[in-house]
Amino acid sequence: MSHPIRNLPVVQNWSCHACGNCCRTLVGLVTDEEKRRIEALDLANDPKIPPGPWFKPVARGAYRWRLNHRREGGCVFLTSENRCRLQERFGPEVKPFVCRLFPFMLIPAGNHWRVGMRFSCPSVAGNQGRPMADTESEKDLVHLSHLLEHHVGRSADAAPAPMILTGQELSWPDACRLVDVMVEIAQDRRDRLERRLRKCLAVVRICRAGMGVRGGQLSKFLQAVRSAVEPDIPREPATLPPPDPLLGRLLFRVLLAIFARHYHDTNQASGMRRALNRVRDGWSFARGRGRVPRVNDYLDEIRFEDVEQRQGIPPEVDETLERYYTVKLNSFQFFGPPNFDRPIWDGLESLILTLPMILWLSRAMPGQPPVEAVQRAIQLVDDHFGGDAMLGLPHIRYLERTLIERGDLEKVVAWYSR
Ligand code: SF4
Repeated sequence: MSHPIRNLPVVQNWSCHACGNCCRTLVGLVTDEEKRRIEALDLANDPKIPPGPWFKPVARGAYRWRLNHRREGGCVFLTSENRCRLQERFGPEVKPFVCRLFPFMLIPAGNHWRVGMRFSCPSVAGNQGRPMADTESEKDLVHLSHLLEHHVGRSADAAPAPMILTGQELSWPDACRLVDVMVEIAQDRRDRLERRLRKCLAVVRICRAGMGVRGGQLSKFLQAVRSAVEPDIPREPATLPPPDPLLGRLLFRVLLAIFARHYHDTNQASGMRRALNRVRDGWSFARGRGRVPRVNDYLDEIRFEDVEQRQGIPPEVDETLERYYTVKLNSFQFFGPPNFDRPIWDGLESLILTLPMILWLSRAMPGQPPVEAVQRAIQLVDDHFGGDAMLGLPHIRYLERTLIERGDLEKVVAWYSR
C-alpha cells in the first residue's frame, strides 16, 4: 500500500545543475537486479564509457555492488560533460535507484513518508532551483516514494516506532508533535539561530529527566518547558563560559576531523594510504596547533590559532542555517536508521553538534563571503551526518556522548558563534 508524502521541504529550492559532484563522491550502491539490468544494455562499444569492470563488490544488505570509478575520478558512467551516460542514452529509469533518489531521502514516519535532502549537493546547500513546495516537485517526490516502496519492498508503516531514549518507545504521532515544537523553536526569528538551538538543548535536558505525557498533552508540555527555559538561556553567546580548554575542545576537534574531511573520489587514496592520511590529519586536529591540514578543497591556508581567534558570525548566515536545520528536523533524518539508530534525544543533540562544526569550518574559509562559506561548510558536514559509517562506531559515539554529558555542547555552540 502506498503512503503519502508529508512535510515537504517548503523552505527549500532545488534543481540539478549537472555539476557532477554526486557522481564523484557518492558511493553508488547497486543491487544484483540493477547490475544485471545495466549489463544487459548495449554499452560495450560506447566510446564515452571505459571498459569494465563497471561494478565493484561490496556487502551492504541488499546491495552487493557499487558503481566503479574511473582512474581520474568520477563514476564510470559520468561523461566529460558531467552527464550520466546511462540517463543520456536510456533515460533515468535505468539508473541505480540510489542515484535516482539523490539528493532526496525518503524517511518512513508511520503512515507517511518524510522528505529529507542531502546538503552535500551544492544546489541544495545553495538553495538553487525550483521551489520544493510546487506541484511538479510534489509529483516527482510522490513518484519517487512509489519507486522506493517497490525497490525496498516495504511501505512507510513497516518502520517500527522510534525510541525517545534507549528502550523507551514514542508513537509516530508523538514524534510528529515533538518535532513540530523543535521546528517552531528553530524558526523563531526573535533570536539568532545559535540561541534557538541552545534553547532546543535546554528543552532536551529537561525532558530527558522525565516526560510522562503523551498524545495531545505532549505539545502543551513541550511548549511549557520551552517557556520555562527561556529566561535561563543567555542571550549573548559571549556570556557563556568557554568550552573546557583541554577535554572539551579536544573532543570537539577529534569529531571535527571526521566532519571536515572530504574525499573527492572514492578510488582516490585507498587502503593503507587512506588510513595513514586519516591518522596524520586526525592527530593535527587533536593537537589543534599550527597549520590546518587541507582535508578538503574549500579550506584556506590557515592556522588553528587563527580560526579560534576569528570572531563575528554575521546575521545574514542565519537564513541558510535555519533552512538547513528546518529540513533536517522536519525530515526526521536525525534519529532512527537515518542516524545510526540514535534515539530521538541523542539524535537531536548530534544534529545540534553540527552547528559548531559548520561555524568552525566557515571560519577556516576567510577568503569566502560569509554566506558562501557557511553553505560550503554545510556541504562538507552534511556529507558525513548520518552517512559516514565512522560516526556510528561505538568509540566515536562515546566521544560524542562524553562531550554532551560534560555540558560542553552548549559551550562549543556559543563559542564558535561569538
Ligand atoms: S551534486 Fe546535485 S547538482 Fe550536482 S549533479 Fe548531483 S544532484 Fe545535480
